[in-house]
Amino acid sequence: MSVRRPSPSDRHHRQAILPGFGADAQERLRASHALVVGCGALGCATIDLLARAGVGRLTLVDRDVVEVTNLQRQSLYVDADARAGTPKAEAAARRVRAIDPGIRADACVEHVGPEAAAELVPDCDLVVDGLDNYRTRYLLNDAAVRFGRPFVHAGAVGLRGTSMPVLAGAAERLGTARTDAPCLRCLFPEVPPAGEGETCDTAGVLGPLAAMVGAHAAAQAIALLAGVPALLDRSLWSVDMAVHRTVRVPLAGASRDDCPCCALRRFEFLDAEDERCAVLCGRNAVQVRPARASTVDMGRMRARLANAGDFAMDDGRLVGTVGGGLELTVFGDGRAIVRGTVDPVAALAAYARYVGE
Ligand SMILES: [Zn+2]
Repeated sequence: MSVRRPSPSDRHHRQAILPGFGADAQERLRASHALVVGCGALGCATIDLLARAGVGRLTLVDRDVVEVTNLQRQSLYVDADARAGTPKAEAAARRVRAIDPGIRADACVEHVGPEAAAELVPDCDLVVDGLDNYRTRYLLNDAAVRFGRPFVHAGAVGLRGTSMPVLAGAAERLGTARTDAPCLRCLFPEVPPAGEGETCDTAGVLGPLAAMVGAHAAAQAIALLAGVPALLDRSLWSVDMAVHRTVRVPLAGASRDDCPCCALRRFEFLDAEDERCAVLCGRNAVQVRPARASTVDMGRMRARLANAGDFAMDDGRLVGTVGGGLELTVFGDGRAIVRGTVDPVAALAAYARYVGE
């Protein structure tokens, strides 16, 4: 047994004297590597807390640049980042190094598709979800289960958010015998159909909500990396600030024998060829297909998109202009054409933000 005691002048002293922590837990945090995918409001809240808690290495991934509309809630960024159009991952890594120069913070300005997930996930000890779209979230769920890493899921839109630890593939790594922990697909088998999932661009998001959800996710990550099981909340935790309610649904026994991911080990998102985008030659446009066939309620879609730009119905399609000079045409089958770019990543980003998936 270790008898090392934290020194009162240590950077992490006030955490290290908490029950279950101590110098050994602090050392485990220092030796750990967390991958945070998505450096928006949730990612900012989580990254800030993980850096201050003493996680020794952070890999921060985001494909976007800081915009002035991010500053209402994305707490690692300042006005100068938005004016300079700094990539979020780089601004976040810089901020982490300013918080604690002893942390290794790597920025990855990249869209996370199957290849990137298969490269990044095995290299880390734990994956944190700071995402704004379901498809990438399911991809990370696949990668976490396949490569045996714990995954902390978090999501926040409008006034509602959720957070949960996904330990389905990580029992061996965590040294526990539990095999009944569910993955994301045990609870939510399919990605919500295109046009059904609300996004922050169409529904808004309250800064304090993202901070609450990000804090819950950070606590799960700290519990897992530091080895403090009492801190781990083995539940699907959700908060609805519109009705002042939090709900915890226990995860014990919630795994499903027919789950395609953690039970059958069919990693459909990780193994998918990314053929959703087709660059439309000579038209400065990219067509994006939904992840699965769906029928879009165009009336509801139009009402949602009214918050994001001027949209009008044209022959059964919704046509409008959104940020970045892009024109979006949404079809009833969930397809969209993004005009103003030939970059599939930019088109997928616009699709995720405005159509929602
Ligand atoms: Zn599962």
